[in-house]
Amino acid sequence: MKLSITDYPGDFYKGKRVFLRVDFNVPIARGKVSEDYRIRRSMPTIEYLANRGAAVILGSHLGRPKGKVVRKLSLRPIAERLSEVLKVSQVKFVDDCIGKDVKYTVSGLEHGEVLLLENLRFHKEEVSNDSDFSKELASLADIYVNDAFSTSHRSHASTYGMTLFFNDRLAGLLVQKELDVLSKIRQHPYRPFIVIVGGAKIRDKINALKTLINKADTVLIGGGVAYTFLASKGISVGESPIERNYLKWAKEVLNSNKNRVLLPDDHVIAPISDTKGRTRLIQGQIPSGFIGLDIGQRTSKVYTHEIMSGEGTIFWNGPMGFFEKEEFSHGTIDIARAISLAFWRGANTVVGGGDTVAALRKAEVLETEVDFVSTGGGASLVFLGGGDLPGISVLSDKI
Ligand code: AMP
Repeated sequence: MKLSITDYPGDFYKGKRVFLRVDFNVPIARGKVSEDYRIRRSMPTIEYLANRGAAVILGSHLGRPKGKVVRKLSLRPIAERLSEVLKVSQVKFVDDCIGKDVKYTVSGLEHGEVLLLENLRFHKEEVSNDSDFSKELASLADIYVNDAFSTSHRSHASTYGMTLFFNDRLAGLLVQKELDVLSKIRQHPYRPFIVIVGGAKIRDKINALKTLINKADTVLIGGGVAYTFLASKGISVGESPIERNYLKWAKEVLNSNKNRVLLPDDHVIAPISDTKGRTRLIQGQIPSGFIGLDIGQRTSKVYTHEIMSGEGTIFWNGPMGFFEKEEFSHGTIDIARAISLAFWRGANTVVGGGDTVAALRKAEVLETEVDFVSTGGGASLVFLGGGDLPGISVLSDKI
């Protein structure tokens, strides 16, 4: 168990400077935050610390500026948005994350004030986990708190290197909740345990898939991931991308888990030459010249039935198709709605990944109509696959 900010008495934070690593990697359009979901998820931790008299220094990355200052990846619009939604304080902003000016601003912070640093990745030393850069960042604060679960699978300066300079390395409220929910699934899921996996590539999900397929009672596979499994059975998938390296593994999985792993048997397809034109619903084999872009109605019905009859745990990661386009979104929408119905019937429903949040929106399912929306797509899969998250392992242990 990791030490969390709630494990210390409230007055512990009074007058202390806290470095809070958050994930504010949010979409920005024309200088404004266009989707503030990730910001809202860290608000309870910011408010918890500021209300107890800490000066809160927020650090985050945005996009991949590769060590250069890229104006459109500045966090300034996020400071503006945060000031609008935060009840405790106007948010200050500095246009770097290390250096003299930053130190000066930090030294002037009052109890309960919140400061957002500029994009950590404007320095290449963030991603390379440079020790001097880590030390500079650490010198800004007395306590380190991680609330960026979704970045915890990376050993960067702000998630790993700088933490080593602190005695107190604590989990924020969001990280604590993520760990509670995902640990329960990892250790003792309520049964039946149904796993739904979609998304683009097996490559990104292989370790989690290996573990989850062993643990789950039923695995429903959709999205791009499905075509490698279908191809491993000798079913034609047309021009749908398959991952040849995993064909043998996929075949073995299907052979040894015959009735537990379900694959789509109808598909929404489109000509590879013109995926905007002439979409078709097809049963069984996908003809050459076409690619599969969504599960078909029959598959959707079978999967929906499985999900809605589940009263144990339901875990979903990855869309069932190219859901950003309306014509290929129906499978994903059906699955999202089925999961929310299972929630209302009492199942423990957990969904993960940025795409999944967008999918819930598309299906008009509220975040409160599932038990938990994990902020970490990649991180939650690494964790469920039994892997190590450096940004979590490094946090202080509860004694
Ligand atoms: P992932 O990050 O691996 O969960 O992948 C999410 C992405 O996979 C989304 O952008 C989906 O549009 C895409 N995707 C899922 N299924 C398909 C498919 N059959 N064809 C093309 N893209 C897909």
